[in-house]
Amino acid sequence: MDLEYTEQYQVYREEVRRFLKGWPLTGEEADRPGAAGSFRKRGIEAGFVCRNVPTEYGGAGQEPDALKDAIVRQEFYAARAPGDLTSQGAGLLVPTLLEFGTEAQKKRFIPKALADEERWCQGYSEPGSGSDLASLQCRATLDGDDYVLSGQKIWTSNAREADWMFGLFRTDPSASKHAGISYLLVDMKTPGVEVRPLKEMTGGMEFNEIFFNDARVPAENLVGKPGEGWAVSRATLVHERNLIANPNMMRDTFNDLLDLARRVEINGRPALEDRALRQRLVEIEGYVRTGETSSMLQFTAGVRGEPLKAMRPMMMGKLYSTDTMQRIQKCAYDLLGAEGMLAPASEDVAGWGRKVTATGWVEAYIFSMGPSIAGGASNIQLNIIGERGYGLPRDMRPPSS
Ligand SMILES: Cc1cc2nc3c(=O)[nH]c(=O)nc-3n(C[C@H](O)[C@H](O)[C@H](O)COP(=O)(O)OP(=O)(O)OC[C@H]3O[C@@H](n4cnc5c(N)ncnc54)[C@H](O)[C@@H]3O)c2cc1C
Repeated sequence: MDLEYTEQYQVYREEVRRFLKGWPLTGEEADRPGAAGSFRKRGIEAGFVCRNVPTEYGGAGQEPDALKDAIVRQEFYAARAPGDLTSQGAGLLVPTLLEFGTEAQKKRFIPKALADEERWCQGYSEPGSGSDLASLQCRATLDGDDYVLSGQKIWTSNAREADWMFGLFRTDPSASKHAGISYLLVDMKTPGVEVRPLKEMTGGMEFNEIFFNDARVPAENLVGKPGEGWAVSRATLVHERNLIANPNMMRDTFNDLLDLARRVEINGRPALEDRALRQRLVEIEGYVRTGETSSMLQFTAGVRGEPLKAMRPMMMGKLYSTDTMQRIQKCAYDLLGAEGMLAPASEDVAGWGRKVTATGWVEAYIFSMGPSIAGGASNIQLNIIGERGYGLPRDMRPPSS
């Protein structure tokens, strides 16, 4: 198996690197408000960002090329380019609208989502409907040219900063649970939409509850047909899981763990020389490699246009990434010992970036619980892999239970 890229793609990789060098990626410049948006704009102009989104909707309008997509993803991650490229607007809504949106919706919403002029949140989960999302109860009742929304969403990330929400609502309570759901775009400033923050174990407040009290949404904001929102939402979820699965992140974070093991000491010797730790590291490296191989299989199947075969590794990507990231970060946390336990809490829980300080590692460990739940918890991923990937029976419970 030859894993080298051909010369044409190596040249492309160099072009991507040159582009990234010309942009301040670290420090205050990268963090200032609007930096991610203007970075994205330049990336689109250069043809590297939003490659597959047509120019009439504000994208780069490039020919589809999975290898180029992969190179861009690898290089942007390696350079720690502003992470906002994976925001809910650009990362989740835009590909969903490209597939299911009307022409008017594409023209109205995609350019602003790409330019970061309008920010989005995802309104799926409800207090009683997470893993069993199709049981959701939030209602949208057609009244003239509007849908009237009532009910509650929960765990809505970034809702307070969001201008818009794409969400799931029950439009036909008499239909079977999957059939009565519709996908709506909701302006967060609509009267009757109330957002309340929730504090997380990380100390941050990214999560929110949303209450709908007879909020009116124009019926033209329906994506797909009434009652067919389940299919639309599944498309969004596939994009979400693909964004969460990141083999480059696993490898980089594992390398950071090795660096940590060189710096920290056990019994006066570098921890990396400790036999028990070495065994643990080898085991984790096995997971990292399996994740990388799985991602390559998915990638190869995708390039060859083998959608069915691509399914299994694709489903495994999220499970593997999140599980392995937790293993890496737990190992770092254990390695830090008292230093880890005493590490001061940071105001800003930065998420999945590079973690070289004790505080950074501890934050990353706490944060690592979230991605294994978001976008479908790990148990649900296992169910999906078993049922859809391998054709196992859907319900293995004995009839009496
Ligand atoms: C970081 C983060 C960000 C999130 N962002 C958003 C967001 O922006 N928008 C949004 O709508 N939601 C968001 N969520 C919510 C997320 O989608 C739900 O938490 C998730 O779907 C699980 O639902 P739940 O919390 O209700 O847990 P439950 O469904 O109650 O599950 C509890 C436990 O039971 C297990 N379980 C449940 N059913 C089964 C089954 N059939 N077989 C085996 N095990 C099962 C689950 O795996 C889990 O371990 C986010 C969550 C996190 C952690």
